[in-house]
Amino acid sequence: MWHAYLWLHCYRRNVRHRIRLTVIRYIGCSDSRVPANEIMGLEAGEVFVHRNIANLVPNVDLNVMFVINYAVRHLQVKHIIVCGHYNCGGVKAALTPADLGLLNPWLRNIRDVYRLHEKELDEITDEGSRYNRLIELNVVESCRNIIKTAAVQQSYRDHQYPVVHGWVFDLREGLIKDLKIDFEGVLEDVKKIYSLSSDLNRK
Ligand SMILES: [Zn+2]
Repeated sequence: MWHAYLWLHCYRRNVRHRIRLTVIRYIGCSDSRVPANEIMGLEAGEVFVHRNIANLVPNVDLNVMFVINYAVRHLQVKHIIVCGHYNCGGVKAALTPADLGLLNPWLRNIRDVYRLHEKELDEITDEGSRYNRLIELNVVESCRNIIKTAAVQQSYRDHQYPVVHGWVFDLREGLIKDLKIDFEGVLEDVKKIYSLSSDLNRK
């Protein structure tokens, strides 16, 4: 868990006093118990934040897509962090067989994550552990959706940034777990189907 904190500590020491720029893009849950600046120990202006229920990155959500595009192409952020949290009410609601009205299409994205990882999740017999793992996999899939965007693919091809990270915040312990997303591995993996640049393989 401390890996994420150490990374931030070193990162702040290197960057904060050198240039005051928003270099981190954060996508997190709307849950007010998870304030982006505070959990990372950063100050205002150091992180560009977008939040929604269960930190989702649906490709048809123009709000989140616009923010990613702006952060990558105009702010030229070096790191994009998707941060979920254990005990996420949004993920729990998606596991509940109930008609939640307007929330249904939003939560469907989380049910789709379950379907993608059905075998792994079904093998976890403990309900709490299965819930926690779905929260982690939901972050992984949000990271994957960010890597599928043209802005990220083209920027990484030309500048070797941004790098996408997946974290989960533990409200009880106050610690961040780094899911250690293999950014280049995922990028390579999604290229076959999701490449949005005909010369993406050009170095
Ligand atoms: Zn949440």
